[in-house]
Amino acid sequence: MLNLLSSTSKRNGQPIIKAFEQALGKDAVVRRKDELLTYECDGLAAYRQRPALVVLPRTTAQVATAVKICDQYELPWVARGAGTGLSGGALPVEDGVLIVTARMNRILDVDLENQRVVVQPGVINNWVTQTVSGAGFYYAPDPSSQIICSIGGNVAENSGGVHCLKYGVTTNHVLGVKVVTPDGSIIDLGGAIPEMPGYDLMGVFVGSEGTLGIATEVTLRILKTPEAICVLLADFDTIAAAGEAVAGIISAGVIPAGMEIMDNLSINAVEDIVATGCYPRDAGAILLVELDGLEVEVTTNKERVTQICQQKGARGVTAASDAETRLKLWKGRKAAFAAAGHISPNYFVQDGVIPRTQLAKVLGEIEALSESSGYRIANVFHAGDGNLHPLVLYDEAVEGAFAEVEKVGEEILRLCVEAGGSLSGEHGIGADKNCYMPQMFNETDLETMQLVRGAFNPKGLANPGKLFPTPKACGERANLQQSAQVKGAKLF
Ligand SMILES: Cc1cc2nc3c(=O)[nH]c(=O)nc-3n(C[C@H](O)[C@H](O)[C@H](O)COP(=O)(O)OP(=O)(O)OC[C@H]3O[C@@H](n4cnc5c(N)ncnc54)[C@H](O)[C@@H]3O)c2cc1C
Repeated sequence: MLNLLSSTSKRNGQPIIKAFEQALGKDAVVRRKDELLTYECDGLAAYRQRPALVVLPRTTAQVATAVKICDQYELPWVARGAGTGLSGGALPVEDGVLIVTARMNRILDVDLENQRVVVQPGVINNWVTQTVSGAGFYYAPDPSSQIICSIGGNVAENSGGVHCLKYGVTTNHVLGVKVVTPDGSIIDLGGAIPEMPGYDLMGVFVGSEGTLGIATEVTLRILKTPEAICVLLADFDTIAAAGEAVAGIISAGVIPAGMEIMDNLSINAVEDIVATGCYPRDAGAILLVELDGLEVEVTTNKERVTQICQQKGARGVTAASDAETRLKLWKGRKAAFAAAGHISPNYFVQDGVIPRTQLAKVLGEIEALSESSGYRIANVFHAGDGNLHPLVLYDEAVEGAFAEVEKVGEEILRLCVEAGGSLSGEHGIGADKNCYMPQMFNETDLETMQLVRGAFNPKGLANPGKLFPTPKACGERANLQQSAQVKGAKLF
Protein backbone atom coordinates (compact mmCIF):
# COMPACT_ATOMS: atom_id res chain seq x y z
CA MET A 1 0.00 0.00 0.00
CA LEU A 2 1.28 3.48 -0.80
CA ASN A 3 2.11 5.82 2.01
CA LEU A 4 -0.01 8.73 0.96
CA LEU A 5 1.81 11.52 2.72
CA SER A 6 5.28 10.62 1.54
CA SER A 7 4.67 9.16 -1.90
CA THR A 8 5.44 11.20 -4.97
CA SER A 9 3.86 11.27 -8.37
CA LYS A 10 5.90 9.56 -11.05
CA ARG A 11 5.04 12.33 -13.52
CA ASN A 12 6.12 15.52 -11.81
CA GLY A 13 7.72 14.45 -8.58
CA GLN A 14 5.09 16.31 -6.51
CA PRO A 15 3.70 14.53 -3.48
CA ILE A 16 0.32 12.96 -4.22
CA ILE A 17 -1.19 15.26 -1.69
CA LYS A 18 -0.27 18.20 -3.91
CA ALA A 19 -2.29 16.64 -6.72
CA PHE A 20 -5.38 16.86 -4.50
CA GLU A 21 -4.54 20.44 -3.47
CA GLN A 22 -4.05 21.55 -7.06
CA ALA A 23 -7.27 19.95 -8.20
CA LEU A 24 -9.55 20.99 -5.33
CA GLY A 25 -7.78 23.95 -3.74
CA LYS A 26 -5.74 23.92 -0.53
CA ASP A 27 -8.75 24.69 1.64
CA ALA A 28 -10.44 21.51 0.43
CA VAL A 29 -7.71 19.22 1.75
CA VAL A 30 -7.40 18.30 5.44
CA ARG A 31 -4.09 16.69 6.38
CA ARG A 32 -3.25 17.81 9.94
CA LYS A 33 -3.47 14.89 12.36
CA ASP A 34 -5.54 16.78 14.94
CA GLU A 35 -8.04 17.89 12.28
CA LEU A 36 -8.27 14.38 10.87
CA LEU A 37 -9.44 13.14 14.28
CA THR A 38 -12.94 14.49 13.55
CA TYR A 39 -13.30 11.97 10.76
CA GLU A 40 -12.00 8.81 12.41
CA CYS A 41 -15.42 7.27 13.07
CA ASP A 42 -19.09 7.55 12.20
CA GLY A 43 -22.04 7.01 14.58
CA LEU A 44 -20.58 3.60 15.50
CA ALA A 45 -17.86 5.18 17.58
CA ALA A 46 -16.47 1.89 18.87
CA TYR A 47 -14.67 1.46 15.53
CA ARG A 48 -12.04 4.09 14.77
CA GLN A 49 -9.47 4.65 12.06
CA ARG A 50 -7.86 7.97 11.20
CA PRO A 51 -7.72 8.56 7.42
CA ALA A 52 -4.48 9.71 5.79
CA LEU A 53 -6.26 12.58 4.12
CA VAL A 54 -9.70 14.19 3.88
CA VAL A 55 -10.89 16.02 0.78
CA LEU A 56 -13.96 18.28 0.65
CA PRO A 57 -15.09 18.73 -2.98
CA ARG A 58 -17.85 21.15 -3.98
CA THR A 59 -18.86 19.82 -7.40
CA THR A 60 -19.30 16.59 -9.36
CA ALA A 61 -16.23 17.52 -11.43
CA GLN A 62 -14.11 17.89 -8.28
CA VAL A 63 -15.32 14.53 -6.95
CA ALA A 64 -14.42 12.94 -10.31
CA THR A 65 -10.94 14.47 -10.17
CA ALA A 66 -10.36 13.29 -6.59
CA VAL A 67 -11.50 9.77 -7.49
CA LYS A 68 -9.27 9.75 -10.58
CA ILE A 69 -6.26 10.64 -8.45
CA CYS A 70 -7.13 7.74 -6.12
CA ASP A 71 -7.53 5.44 -9.12
CA GLN A 72 -4.22 6.54 -10.61
CA TYR A 73 -2.26 5.89 -7.41
CA GLU A 74 -4.39 2.95 -6.27
CA LEU A 75 -5.43 4.70 -3.07
CA PRO A 76 -8.43 3.25 -1.23
CA TRP A 77 -11.14 5.81 -0.55
CA VAL A 78 -14.35 6.11 1.41
CA ALA A 79 -17.26 8.50 0.82
CA ARG A 80 -18.67 10.29 3.85
CA GLY A 81 -21.82 12.38 4.21
CA ALA A 82 -22.66 13.57 7.72
CA GLY A 83 -21.05 10.58 9.47
CA THR A 84 -24.19 9.55 11.36
CA GLY A 85 -24.16 5.98 10.02
CA LEU A 86 -24.49 3.28 12.65
CA SER A 87 -22.74 0.39 10.91
CA GLY A 88 -19.26 1.83 10.37
CA GLY A 89 -19.92 2.40 6.65
CA ALA A 90 -17.96 5.66 6.59
CA LEU A 91 -15.13 4.26 8.73
CA PRO A 92 -11.95 5.39 6.94
CA VAL A 93 -9.33 3.03 5.59
CA GLU A 94 -5.81 3.22 6.94
CA ASP A 95 -3.66 5.27 4.57
CA GLY A 96 -6.76 6.00 2.53
CA VAL A 97 -8.65 9.11 1.45
CA LEU A 98 -11.99 10.20 2.89
CA ILE A 99 -14.13 12.08 0.37
CA VAL A 100 -16.55 14.19 2.41
CA THR A 101 -19.61 15.71 0.75
CA ALA A 102 -20.37 18.31 3.46
CA ARG A 103 -19.70 21.21 1.06
CA MET A 104 -21.96 19.75 -1.63
CA ASN A 105 -24.98 21.10 0.19
CA ARG A 106 -27.03 22.94 -2.43
CA ILE A 107 -30.60 22.31 -3.49
CA LEU A 108 -30.20 22.53 -7.25
CA ASP A 109 -33.77 22.49 -8.52
CA VAL A 110 -37.32 22.46 -7.17
CA ASP A 111 -39.98 21.33 -9.65
CA LEU A 112 -43.28 21.32 -7.76
CA GLU A 113 -45.36 20.63 -10.85
CA ASN A 114 -43.57 17.34 -11.44
CA GLN A 115 -43.04 16.70 -7.72
CA ARG A 116 -39.24 16.56 -8.00
CA VAL A 117 -36.32 18.11 -6.19
CA VAL A 118 -32.69 17.81 -7.30
CA VAL A 119 -30.07 18.05 -4.56
CA GLN A 120 -26.37 17.69 -3.99
CA PRO A 121 -25.54 14.73 -1.74
CA GLY A 122 -24.48 16.77 1.29
CA VAL A 123 -27.96 18.31 1.65
CA ILE A 124 -29.45 17.39 5.02
CA ASN A 125 -32.56 15.19 4.81
CA ASN A 126 -34.81 17.61 6.69
CA TRP A 127 -33.92 20.55 4.41
CA VAL A 128 -35.85 18.96 1.55
CA THR A 129 -39.16 19.00 3.44
CA GLN A 130 -38.37 22.46 4.82
CA THR A 131 -37.86 23.73 1.26
CA VAL A 132 -41.18 22.46 -0.10
CA SER A 133 -43.49 22.34 2.93
CA GLY A 134 -44.77 25.88 2.38
CA ALA A 135 -46.16 24.74 -0.97
CA GLY A 136 -47.87 21.70 0.58
CA PHE A 137 -45.27 19.01 -0.16
CA TYR A 138 -42.84 16.87 1.83
CA TYR A 139 -40.09 14.30 1.43
CA ALA A 140 -41.30 11.05 3.01
CA PRO A 141 -38.21 9.11 4.20
CA ASP A 142 -37.54 10.51 7.66
CA PRO A 143 -34.77 8.77 9.61
CA SER A 144 -34.72 9.79 13.27
CA SER A 145 -31.39 11.43 12.38
CA GLN A 146 -33.11 13.55 9.72
CA ILE A 147 -31.93 16.88 11.12
CA ILE A 148 -28.28 15.85 10.69
CA CYS A 149 -27.90 13.06 8.11
CA SER A 150 -27.25 13.71 4.43
CA ILE A 151 -29.21 12.62 1.36
CA GLY A 152 -26.04 10.98 -0.04
CA GLY A 153 -25.77 8.84 3.10
CA ASN A 154 -29.50 8.07 2.91
CA VAL A 155 -29.10 6.88 -0.67
CA ALA A 156 -26.05 4.76 0.18
CA GLU A 157 -27.81 3.12 3.15
CA ASN A 158 -31.30 3.03 1.60
CA SER A 159 -32.42 4.67 4.83
CA GLY A 160 -35.79 4.21 6.42
CA GLY A 161 -37.72 6.12 9.03
CA VAL A 162 -41.01 6.46 10.83
CA HIS A 163 -43.01 7.15 7.65
CA CYS A 164 -41.50 4.35 5.60
CA LEU A 165 -44.16 1.80 6.61
CA LYS A 166 -46.74 3.27 4.24
CA TYR A 167 -44.55 5.16 1.79
CA GLY A 168 -41.47 2.96 1.42
CA VAL A 169 -37.79 3.57 2.12
CA THR A 170 -35.34 5.84 0.28
CA THR A 171 -35.21 3.71 -2.88
CA ASN A 172 -38.92 4.36 -3.44
CA HIS A 173 -38.29 8.12 -3.44
CA VAL A 174 -35.18 8.42 -5.61
CA LEU A 175 -35.80 8.96 -9.30
CA GLY A 176 -32.25 9.47 -10.49
CA VAL A 177 -28.65 9.67 -9.29
CA LYS A 178 -25.56 11.17 -10.88
CA VAL A 179 -22.66 8.97 -9.86
CA VAL A 180 -18.88 9.24 -10.01
CA THR A 181 -17.74 5.66 -10.53
CA PRO A 182 -14.48 4.38 -8.99
CA ASP A 183 -12.49 5.11 -12.18
CA GLY A 184 -13.65 8.74 -12.07
CA SER A 185 -16.27 8.50 -14.83
CA ILE A 186 -19.56 10.36 -14.41
CA ILE A 187 -22.76 8.42 -15.14
CA ASP A 188 -26.49 9.03 -14.73
CA LEU A 189 -28.63 6.27 -13.26
CA GLY A 190 -32.43 6.44 -13.42
CA GLY A 191 -33.82 9.78 -14.53
CA ALA A 192 -36.50 12.36 -14.04
CA ILE A 193 -39.33 9.91 -14.65
CA PRO A 194 -40.06 6.73 -12.66
CA GLU A 195 -40.02 4.20 -15.53
CA MET A 196 -36.66 3.84 -17.29
CA PRO A 197 -35.82 1.07 -19.76
CA GLY A 198 -32.81 -1.22 -19.35
CA TYR A 199 -31.32 -2.59 -16.16
CA ASP A 200 -32.39 -0.87 -12.97
CA LEU A 201 -28.86 0.23 -12.05
CA MET A 202 -30.24 2.97 -9.85
CA GLY A 203 -31.93 0.27 -7.78
CA VAL A 204 -28.54 -1.45 -7.55
CA PHE A 205 -26.80 1.75 -6.49
CA VAL A 206 -29.27 2.72 -3.77
CA GLY A 207 -28.21 0.77 -0.68
CA SER A 208 -24.76 -0.09 -2.06
CA GLU A 209 -23.07 1.60 0.93
CA GLY A 210 -20.50 3.58 -1.01
CA THR A 211 -18.98 0.49 -2.66
CA LEU A 212 -20.02 1.31 -6.24
CA GLY A 213 -19.20 5.04 -6.47
CA ILE A 214 -20.23 8.41 -5.08
CA ALA A 215 -23.63 9.99 -5.61
CA THR A 216 -23.06 13.63 -6.56
CA GLU A 217 -26.60 14.67 -7.52
CA VAL A 218 -29.86 13.06 -6.47
CA THR A 219 -33.34 13.59 -7.96
CA LEU A 220 -35.93 12.99 -5.24
CA ARG A 221 -39.67 12.45 -5.45
CA ILE A 222 -41.73 14.63 -3.14
CA LEU A 223 -45.31 13.95 -2.00
CA LYS A 224 -48.35 16.14 -1.34
CA THR A 225 -48.94 16.78 2.35
CA PRO A 226 -51.94 14.67 3.42
CA GLU A 227 -55.27 16.36 4.07
CA ALA A 228 -55.49 14.96 7.62
CA ILE A 229 -53.02 13.47 10.09
CA CYS A 230 -53.71 11.91 13.47
CA VAL A 231 -51.29 10.31 15.95
CA LEU A 232 -52.53 7.73 18.45
CA LEU A 233 -50.68 6.70 21.58
CA ALA A 234 -51.69 3.38 23.12
CA ASP A 235 -50.05 2.10 26.28
CA PHE A 236 -49.77 -1.55 27.27
CA ASP A 237 -48.65 -3.63 30.25
CA THR A 238 -46.26 -5.64 28.10
CA ILE A 239 -44.26 -5.14 24.94
CA ALA A 240 -45.67 -8.45 23.65
CA ALA A 241 -49.22 -7.02 23.80
CA ALA A 242 -48.06 -3.91 21.89
CA GLY A 243 -46.51 -6.23 19.28
CA GLU A 244 -49.78 -8.11 18.92
CA ALA A 245 -51.63 -4.84 18.38
CA VAL A 246 -49.26 -4.03 15.50
CA ALA A 247 -49.95 -7.37 13.81
CA GLY A 248 -53.70 -6.89 14.44
CA ILE A 249 -53.76 -3.41 12.85
CA ILE A 250 -52.01 -4.55 9.67
CA SER A 251 -54.06 -7.70 9.32
CA ALA A 252 -57.21 -5.56 9.63
CA GLY A 253 -56.09 -3.88 6.41
CA VAL A 254 -55.09 -0.52 7.96
CA ILE A 255 -51.71 0.76 6.77
CA PRO A 256 -50.66 3.59 9.06
CA ALA A 257 -48.02 6.08 7.91
CA GLY A 258 -45.89 4.89 10.82
CA MET A 259 -46.09 2.54 13.80
CA GLU A 260 -43.44 2.65 16.51
CA ILE A 261 -42.98 0.83 19.82
CA MET A 262 -40.96 1.98 22.83
CA ASP A 263 -40.42 -0.22 25.90
CA ASN A 264 -40.42 0.84 29.55
CA LEU A 265 -36.68 1.53 29.68
CA SER A 266 -36.87 3.79 26.61
CA ILE A 267 -40.03 5.56 27.84
CA ASN A 268 -38.35 6.52 31.10
CA ALA A 269 -35.08 7.51 29.44
CA VAL A 270 -36.97 9.79 27.06
CA GLU A 271 -39.18 11.30 29.76
CA ASP A 272 -36.04 12.04 31.81
CA ILE A 273 -34.51 14.18 29.09
CA VAL A 274 -37.32 15.39 26.80
CA ALA A 275 -40.16 15.40 29.35
CA THR A 276 -42.95 15.05 26.81
CA GLY A 277 -45.30 14.39 29.71
CA CYS A 278 -47.29 12.18 27.31
CA TYR A 279 -45.58 8.82 27.80
CA PRO A 280 -46.87 6.93 30.90
CA ARG A 281 -43.77 5.95 32.88
CA ASP A 282 -45.39 2.81 34.30
CA ALA A 283 -46.34 1.34 30.91
CA GLY A 284 -44.61 -1.85 29.77
CA ALA A 285 -44.63 -0.37 26.28
CA ILE A 286 -46.24 2.35 24.21
CA LEU A 287 -47.35 2.13 20.61
CA LEU A 288 -47.40 5.28 18.47
CA VAL A 289 -49.56 5.04 15.34
CA GLU A 290 -49.71 7.81 12.75
CA LEU A 291 -52.69 7.77 10.40
CA ASP A 292 -52.86 10.02 7.37
CA GLY A 293 -54.92 10.55 4.23
CA LEU A 294 -58.33 12.03 3.54
CA GLU A 295 -60.21 13.34 6.58
CA VAL A 296 -62.90 10.66 6.31
CA GLU A 297 -60.33 7.86 5.99
CA VAL A 298 -58.37 9.05 9.01
CA THR A 299 -61.52 9.31 11.13
CA THR A 300 -62.59 5.76 10.24
CA ASN A 301 -59.13 4.27 10.79
CA LYS A 302 -58.74 6.10 14.10
CA GLU A 303 -61.77 4.22 15.44
CA ARG A 304 -60.60 0.87 14.08
CA VAL A 305 -57.07 1.23 15.47
CA THR A 306 -58.41 2.30 18.87
CA GLN A 307 -60.66 -0.77 18.97
CA ILE A 308 -57.86 -3.15 17.97
CA CYS A 309 -55.51 -1.70 20.60
CA GLN A 310 -58.22 -2.09 23.25
CA GLN A 311 -58.87 -5.69 22.16
CA LYS A 312 -55.15 -6.41 22.52
CA GLY A 313 -55.15 -5.06 26.06
CA ALA A 314 -54.31 -1.34 25.77
CA ARG A 315 -54.74 0.44 29.11
CA GLY A 316 -55.52 3.68 27.34
CA VAL A 317 -55.52 5.23 23.87
CA THR A 318 -55.14 8.95 23.26
CA ALA A 319 -55.30 10.75 19.91
CA ALA A 320 -53.77 14.00 18.67
CA SER A 321 -54.79 15.71 15.46
CA ASP A 322 -53.32 19.18 16.03
CA ALA A 323 -49.77 19.73 14.81
CA GLU A 324 -48.36 20.83 18.18
CA THR A 325 -49.47 17.72 20.13
CA ARG A 326 -48.49 15.40 17.29
CA LEU A 327 -45.02 16.88 17.31
CA LYS A 328 -44.82 16.41 21.08
CA LEU A 329 -45.79 12.74 20.75
CA TRP A 330 -43.10 12.14 18.13
CA LYS A 331 -40.45 14.24 19.87
CA GLY A 332 -39.78 11.56 22.47
CA ARG A 333 -39.50 8.80 19.88
CA LYS A 334 -37.10 10.83 17.76
CA ALA A 335 -34.92 11.52 20.80
CA ALA A 336 -34.87 7.90 21.97
CA PHE A 337 -31.30 7.05 20.88
CA ALA A 338 -29.94 10.21 22.46
CA ALA A 339 -31.90 9.43 25.62
CA ALA A 340 -30.19 6.03 25.86
CA GLY A 341 -26.96 7.99 26.33
CA HIS A 342 -28.53 9.48 29.44
CA ILE A 343 -29.13 6.13 31.17
CA SER A 344 -25.87 4.45 30.19
CA PRO A 345 -22.32 5.64 29.40
CA ASN A 346 -22.44 3.75 26.09
CA TYR A 347 -24.96 1.89 23.98
CA PHE A 348 -24.74 -0.34 20.95
CA VAL A 349 -27.66 -0.08 18.52
CA GLN A 350 -28.59 -3.25 16.72
CA ASP A 351 -30.74 -3.15 13.59
CA GLY A 352 -32.48 -6.36 12.54
CA VAL A 353 -35.76 -7.18 10.85
CA ILE A 354 -38.31 -9.84 11.68
CA PRO A 355 -41.75 -10.67 10.29
CA ARG A 356 -44.35 -8.61 12.20
CA THR A 357 -46.07 -11.79 13.37
CA GLN A 358 -42.87 -12.77 15.23
CA LEU A 359 -42.61 -9.54 17.24
CA ALA A 360 -43.88 -10.93 20.55
CA LYS A 361 -41.74 -14.10 20.30
CA VAL A 362 -38.46 -12.42 19.30
CA LEU A 363 -38.85 -9.58 21.81
CA GLY A 364 -39.30 -12.23 24.51
CA GLU A 365 -36.10 -13.93 23.36
CA ILE A 366 -34.23 -10.61 23.45
CA GLU A 367 -35.46 -10.07 27.01
CA ALA A 368 -34.16 -13.53 27.97
CA LEU A 369 -30.84 -12.68 26.31
CA SER A 370 -30.64 -9.49 28.34
CA GLU A 371 -31.10 -11.49 31.55
CA SER A 372 -28.60 -14.20 30.65
CA SER A 373 -25.94 -11.73 29.44
CA GLY A 374 -26.43 -9.24 32.26
CA TYR A 375 -26.68 -6.32 29.80
CA ARG A 376 -29.79 -4.13 29.89
CA ILE A 377 -31.44 -3.84 26.48
CA ALA A 378 -33.80 -0.97 25.61
CA ASN A 379 -36.19 -1.45 22.69
CA VAL A 380 -37.41 1.35 20.47
CA PHE A 381 -38.28 0.46 16.92
CA HIS A 382 -40.18 0.71 13.66
CA ALA A 383 -42.73 -1.92 14.69
CA GLY A 384 -44.90 -1.69 11.58
CA ASP A 385 -42.20 -3.09 9.34
CA GLY A 386 -40.69 -5.39 11.98
CA ASN A 387 -37.48 -3.34 12.12
CA LEU A 388 -36.05 -3.84 15.62
CA HIS A 389 -33.55 -1.50 17.24
CA PRO A 390 -32.43 -3.12 20.49
CA LEU A 391 -30.03 -0.78 22.31
CA VAL A 392 -27.57 -2.79 24.38
CA LEU A 393 -26.40 -0.62 27.28
CA TYR A 394 -22.79 -0.93 28.49
CA ASP A 395 -19.79 0.94 29.84
CA GLU A 396 -16.76 0.98 27.57
CA ALA A 397 -14.54 1.70 30.59
CA VAL A 398 -15.18 -1.87 31.73
CA GLU A 399 -12.56 -4.07 30.13
CA GLY A 400 -13.97 -6.55 27.63
CA ALA A 401 -17.47 -5.06 27.81
CA PHE A 402 -17.62 -4.06 24.14
CA ALA A 403 -16.53 -7.53 22.97
CA GLU A 404 -19.33 -9.04 25.08
CA VAL A 405 -21.85 -6.56 23.77
CA GLU A 406 -20.85 -7.37 20.18
CA LYS A 407 -21.62 -11.01 20.99
CA VAL A 408 -25.04 -10.01 22.35
CA GLY A 409 -25.58 -8.04 19.11
CA GLU A 410 -24.61 -11.06 17.03
CA GLU A 411 -27.01 -13.23 19.00
CA ILE A 412 -29.84 -10.75 18.37
CA LEU A 413 -29.16 -10.89 14.64
CA ARG A 414 -29.13 -14.68 14.74
CA LEU A 415 -32.59 -14.57 16.37
CA CYS A 416 -33.81 -12.22 13.63
CA VAL A 417 -32.48 -14.34 10.77
CA GLU A 418 -33.82 -17.55 12.35
CA ALA A 419 -37.25 -15.90 12.65
CA GLY A 420 -37.21 -15.38 8.87
CA GLY A 421 -35.94 -11.80 9.03
CA SER A 422 -32.87 -9.85 7.96
CA LEU A 423 -29.48 -8.61 9.24
CA SER A 424 -30.37 -4.98 8.63
CA GLY A 425 -33.51 -2.94 8.19
CA GLU A 426 -31.93 0.42 7.45
CA HIS A 427 -28.53 1.01 9.08
CA GLY A 428 -26.66 -1.10 6.54
CA ILE A 429 -23.98 -3.76 6.91
CA GLY A 430 -20.83 -1.61 6.76
CA ALA A 431 -17.87 -2.74 8.85
CA ASP A 432 -20.11 -3.90 11.66
CA LYS A 433 -22.11 -6.75 10.19
CA ASN A 434 -20.10 -7.85 7.17
CA CYS A 435 -18.96 -10.99 9.03
CA TYR A 436 -22.58 -12.09 9.47
CA MET A 437 -23.49 -11.95 5.77
CA PRO A 438 -22.93 -15.72 5.35
CA GLN A 439 -25.67 -16.27 7.97
CA MET A 440 -28.15 -14.92 5.49
CA PHE A 441 -26.66 -15.51 2.05
CA ASN A 442 -25.08 -18.60 0.54
CA GLU A 443 -21.86 -18.56 -1.46
CA THR A 444 -23.63 -18.14 -4.78
CA ASP A 445 -25.69 -15.21 -3.48
CA LEU A 446 -22.54 -13.47 -2.26
CA GLU A 447 -20.63 -14.30 -5.41
CA THR A 448 -23.36 -12.67 -7.50
CA MET A 449 -23.19 -9.52 -5.38
CA GLN A 450 -19.40 -9.50 -5.71
CA LEU A 451 -19.74 -9.66 -9.50
CA VAL A 452 -21.81 -6.47 -9.36
CA ARG A 453 -19.28 -4.83 -7.06
CA GLY A 454 -16.43 -5.93 -9.32
CA ALA A 455 -18.17 -4.50 -12.40
CA PHE A 456 -18.40 -1.01 -10.88
CA ASN A 457 -15.31 -1.19 -8.68
CA PRO A 458 -12.79 -3.55 -10.35
CA LYS A 459 -9.78 -2.35 -8.34
CA GLY A 460 -11.71 -2.58 -5.07
CA LEU A 461 -10.69 0.96 -4.08
CA ALA A 462 -14.19 2.24 -3.20
CA ASN A 463 -14.98 1.53 0.46
CA PRO A 464 -12.91 -1.65 0.78
CA GLY A 465 -13.57 -4.00 3.69
CA LYS A 466 -17.25 -3.08 3.98
CA LEU A 467 -20.40 -5.04 3.25
CA PHE A 468 -18.65 -8.37 2.55
CA PRO A 469 -16.71 -10.48 5.04
CA THR A 470 -12.94 -9.94 4.91
CA PRO A 471 -10.18 -12.26 6.11
CA LYS A 472 -8.79 -9.47 8.33
CA ALA A 473 -12.07 -8.66 10.06
CA CYS A 474 -13.78 -12.03 10.09
CA GLY A 475 -11.02 -14.63 10.14
CA GLU A 476 -12.41 -18.10 9.58
CA ARG A 477 -15.82 -16.91 8.52
CA ALA A 478 -14.26 -15.12 5.59
CA ASN A 479 -13.07 -18.38 4.12
CA LEU A 480 -16.59 -18.90 2.89
CA GLN A 481 -16.39 -15.57 1.18
CA GLN A 482 -12.93 -16.11 -0.30
CA SER A 483 -14.38 -18.35 -2.94
CA ALA A 484 -16.90 -15.68 -3.82
CA GLN A 485 -14.27 -13.15 -4.82
CA VAL A 486 -14.35 -12.00 -8.38
CA LYS A 487 -11.34 -13.41 -10.14
CA GLY A 488 -8.68 -10.79 -10.70
CA ALA A 489 -10.49 -8.07 -8.72
CA LYS A 490 -8.97 -6.66 -5.52
CA LEU A 491 -12.06 -6.75 -3.36
CA PHE A 492 -10.65 -6.43 0.13
C1 LIG B 1 -29.56 9.22 16.44
C2 LIG B 1 -29.59 8.46 15.15
C3 LIG B 1 -30.81 8.03 14.64
C4 LIG B 1 -30.85 7.32 13.44
N1 LIG B 1 -32.06 6.94 12.95
C5 LIG B 1 -32.13 6.32 11.74
C6 LIG B 1 -33.39 5.93 11.20
O1 LIG B 1 -34.46 6.16 11.77
N2 LIG B 1 -33.38 5.31 10.00
C7 LIG B 1 -32.22 5.05 9.31
O2 LIG B 1 -32.28 4.50 8.22
N3 LIG B 1 -31.02 5.41 9.82
C8 LIG B 1 -30.94 6.03 10.99
N4 LIG B 1 -29.72 6.39 11.51
C9 LIG B 1 -28.49 6.04 10.77
C10 LIG B 1 -27.95 7.13 9.81
O3 LIG B 1 -28.37 8.41 10.18
C11 LIG B 1 -28.35 6.82 8.36
O4 LIG B 1 -27.74 5.61 7.95
C12 LIG B 1 -27.98 7.94 7.36
O5 LIG B 1 -28.50 7.64 6.10
C13 LIG B 1 -26.48 8.15 7.23
O6 LIG B 1 -26.30 9.36 6.54
P1 LIG B 1 -24.91 10.14 6.66
O7 LIG B 1 -24.97 11.32 5.78
O8 LIG B 1 -24.59 10.40 8.07
O9 LIG B 1 -23.93 9.05 6.04
P2 LIG B 1 -22.47 8.57 6.52
O10 LIG B 1 -22.55 8.00 7.89
O11 LIG B 1 -21.52 9.68 6.29
O12 LIG B 1 -22.21 7.42 5.48
C14 LIG B 1 -23.01 6.27 5.47
C15 LIG B 1 -22.62 5.40 4.28
O13 LIG B 1 -22.94 6.08 3.09
C16 LIG B 1 -21.79 6.21 2.24
N5 LIG B 1 -21.96 7.51 1.59
C17 LIG B 1 -22.11 8.72 2.17
N6 LIG B 1 -22.31 9.66 1.23
C18 LIG B 1 -22.29 9.03 0.04
C19 LIG B 1 -22.44 9.45 -1.30
N7 LIG B 1 -22.65 10.73 -1.63
N8 LIG B 1 -22.37 8.52 -2.28
C20 LIG B 1 -22.14 7.20 -1.99
N9 LIG B 1 -21.97 6.76 -0.74
C21 LIG B 1 -22.05 7.66 0.25
C22 LIG B 1 -20.61 6.09 3.18
O14 LIG B 1 -19.46 5.60 2.50
C23 LIG B 1 -21.13 5.09 4.18
O15 LIG B 1 -20.97 3.78 3.69
C24 LIG B 1 -29.65 7.07 12.73
C25 LIG B 1 -28.42 7.53 13.23
C26 LIG B 1 -28.39 8.21 14.42
C27 LIG B 1 -27.06 8.69 14.93
